Amino acid sequence: MDKVNPYFLKNPSLISFSGGRTSGYMLYQILKAHNGKLPDDVFVVFANTGKEMPQTLDFVHDCSTYWDVPIIWVEWDNNSKNKIRIVDHNSASRKGEPYEQLIDSKKFLPNPVTRYCTSYLKIKPMRAYCMFHKGFEYWNSYVGLRYDEPHRVARLSNRNKKERWETEGPLHDAKVTVQHVYDFWKNNEFDLRLPNIGGKTPQGNCDLCFLKGANTIKNIMKSDPKLAEWWIKQETKHLGTGNDRAAYFRKDRPSYAKLLKNTQDQLELFEFDQATDTCFCHD
Ligand code: SF4
Repeated sequence: MDKVNPYFLKNPSLISFSGGRTSGYMLYQILKAHNGKLPDDVFVVFANTGKEMPQTLDFVHDCSTYWDVPIIWVEWDNNSKNKIRIVDHNSASRKGEPYEQLIDSKKFLPNPVTRYCTSYLKIKPMRAYCMFHKGFEYWNSYVGLRYDEPHRVARLSNRNKKERWETEGPLHDAKVTVQHVYDFWKNNEFDLRLPNIGGKTPQGNCDLCFLKGANTIKNIMKSDPKLAEWWIKQETKHLGTGNDRAAYFRKDRPSYAKLLKNTQDQLELFEFDQATDTCFCHD
């Protein structure tokens, strides 16, 4: 019997598009498997936190335009029905608005242990889209997990089975590694306009995400110090609440204000962290 093409989708489905090169590669392969046109009950969804780099937003838009595939942009919004707002490349938040609104409603900052930002800003809006906008009861969720990311694949198989969706990792099934993704974009007519360092995109996801290594954050701050302002503002707002956990994104390293100061005191760039972790929509 022929092996099933991992890019051929079960329906109904959501393609979770993170705005990175890997999920862009996955989308391309899925489109190719369907002769360039997705089935009617398959939707590509990008969840914007408001803290993505503008290049990421442009890349999502480019994938949609060059490949002629609709990509639905969603944002978490506490004031909207079902807490979801549909936006587009023009109307998407660019100043961290959904994220800040979420922090204000929670009254404490997310941190590596209580990472509610991923859940509220990425997973819940995608779920709300499938349930309330499309009326799906159950669906398959396609995520860009590569073969060389075994820790993420392990998390995937340990995930809560009570959800309404089954998670599929077609890149993993097709044994796709970071090298395949790199080669694809090198030869493509457009690319994500953010540096690719050893197959990683340090500026991907939320610009100064607290899961990134301290040196990665300092390098990004050094190239664009203004990015630090939003993170410093969040930490400053929650100071003095009497709850240390509430006031900082991380307790195990200096505040964002101190990290910024550190970059201003040193001339050279820092070594990029090897073990930087990143947010993943379906962790
Ligand atoms: S990228 Fe980082 S800060 Fe942004 S939602 Fe994910 S975990 Fe939170």
